[in-house]
Amino acid sequence: MAIATSFGSSGLVLLHLLRTIEPNIPVLFLDTGFHFPETLAFKERMQGAWDLKVVELRGEHGSPERQAEAYGPHLHSRDPDKCCRINKVAPLQEALEEFDGWISGIRREQSPLRVRTPILEAQLLPSGNEILKVHPLATWTRADVDDYVATHDIPTHPLLEQGFASIGCAPCTIAAPIDDERAGRWPGFSKTECGIHSFGTGDAGRETEADQ
Ligand code: SF4
Repeated sequence: MAIATSFGSSGLVLLHLLRTIEPNIPVLFLDTGFHFPETLAFKERMQGAWDLKVVELRGEHGSPERQAEAYGPHLHSRDPDKCCRINKVAPLQEALEEFDGWISGIRREQSPLRVRTPILEAQLLPSGNEILKVHPLATWTRADVDDYVATHDIPTHPLLEQGFASIGCAPCTIAAPIDDERAGRWPGFSKTECGIHSFGTGDAGRETEADQ
């Protein structure tokens, strides 16, 4: 098994729990090249503090500059679905071929598209291999996460204090109300998901391609 996280609070809660069970679990981090510097610095800090086995995943172009050479500048503002497919979905799918399953910190409360998130589900990779997708925090509320973080004195992403309810890539994330966690993602687009939680799950109603 592996866990994938971008070092938001839910991911840190999961890592805190998992470290007591399997401290060497691979931690998949999608290094899109577009993260906030604060995210990269926080990842480094937590990687060192908790001795995490971080596996950095990159898209086929490896950097924003090379992506711009292939597709022109600012693909994220012209076709964010394509940008997410290149930098998030495809590298994760490739990495997951090495595992029986992966663990994610998504919660039902986070958005209407996540409201039917199961605890366990099968996920079909493009290769035809079926793996397990696990959402241990599916039923947790934001308050549950905040309580756990406070109780265990877990560090939090520095941008949370600046009003970012959910932190993704810098060009596609703005500050948003804490009670609407996904509202700050892809401003100006109807998109609220990058696509890593929707492919191959066989539940088209929960999150469709058009909604990614
Ligand atoms: S979140 Fe934005 S910058 Fe990051 S991969 Fe998706 S479209 Fe590209």
